[in-house]
Amino acid sequence: MIKVYSNEDRFLVQQIKDMLESNGIPCFIKNEFAIGGAGDLSPFDCWPEVWIIDNDWQTKAEQVIEGVKSDPQQGRDWCCKKCGETNAGSFGICWSCGAQAPQHD
Ligand SMILES: [Zn+2]
Repeated sequence: MIKVYSNEDRFLVQQIKDMLESNGIPCFIKNEFAIGGAGDLSPFDCWPEVWIIDNDWQTKAEQVIEGVKSDPQQGRDWCCKKCGETNAGSFGICWSCGAQAPQHD
């Protein structure tokens, strides 16, 4: 077994695990519920971790994780083609004129 990812944000960790599983990589989360009951451990020691069961998957797993982290569609501002207004990445339509966000593909 080998640890491939760790982050204080357990939702991000869960997302990584889901992505690995959807790519057919057997994995599990350690420390999922450890936060809040840290005791003597430093917070870093209690970050949730994604582990893969078979080390042979490590290269593939790292590629998947890179893909999740560098997803250009997440949180990137976009510029409205119709009115030129800048919109937050989470907006599906322009807040100013209501035009559709450009598709990233
Ligand atoms: Zn607009």
